[in-house]
Amino acid sequence: RITYVNGRYVPSREAVVSVEDRGNQFADAVYEACQIKDGAIIDLRRHLDRLDRSLAELRIATPMSRAAMTHVLREVARRNKVENGYVYWQISRGAAPRDHAFPAGVRPTFTATAKSLDVAAAALRYEKGVPIITLPDNRWERVDIKTVGLLPNALAKQAAREAGAFEAVFVDAEGYVTEGSSANVWLVDGEGRLVTRPADRGILRGITRSVLMEVAAAEDVAVVERRFTVTEMKTAREVFLTSAGAILCPVVSIDGETVANGVPGSIAARLRRRFHDIAERTPI
Ligand code: PMP
Repeated sequence: RITYVNGRYVPSREAVVSVEDRGNQFADAVYEACQIKDGAIIDLRRHLDRLDRSLAELRIATPMSRAAMTHVLREVARRNKVENGYVYWQISRGAAPRDHAFPAGVRPTFTATAKSLDVAAAALRYEKGVPIITLPDNRWERVDIKTVGLLPNALAKQAAREAGAFEAVFVDAEGYVTEGSSANVWLVDGEGRLVTRPADRGILRGITRSVLMEVAAAEDVAVVERRFTVTEMKTAREVFLTSAGAILCPVVSIDGETVANGVPGSIAARLRRRFHDIAERTPI
């Protein structure tokens, strides 16, 4: 595999950043990941918009122009021969002798990789649906910034794996679902409306979430942005997850209890079928 590091494309095992990189020592870094489908990067423009916002929130300098970044991402995908998978890129504040406060004159570290995904395994998850578990949300309150500070997310995903589940969904102190460890959460209510949590500071504003709202509008499916409880999710007509990696993944069991009759729902299937008609494609 090939990795891009600060201006060079190198074999991944030779790709190195400083031990004193602030991404390494303080999780002082932001990232993005886009789906690559049939040789095109999906919704790149929106991911670059969100990256700009994450960088601005943390006052990390932009390492290069949008055009240059787009070139690097396409090149990384191309050099890794990824037709279906994802491209991942990360920007840290840079490397400097360890000190919590921002160092002066530091240059951001920019790395990017691309990887193929197991299309058959993803198709199976989509066809059969997946089990999830719920866990208390123990993250900081700025999860709207897409930082690499993902330890609570990693621990939650591991807990899911150990419970035989695919994803862990966080629940806030008031009993409302926030989001998954790496996905947004949706349900279909009794009237056939989509319900998802408002993108306030409790969740990441998922790009797939935004695009799915456009897909829903095109399909005349109503969307309600409001909080919902675990009980409501467990008794919903359909439940599903969205993320750039999986696009839409139906949920068929929660904390060991069967939901939505244990099969993927028809509204989720409809939205999923239309998704790539509406998403933007940047050929690699
Ligand atoms: N929430 C979290 C915590 C995530 O890590 C992700 C995946 N990046 C999402 C939601 C979904 O966001 P997107 O649709 O932009 O991938």
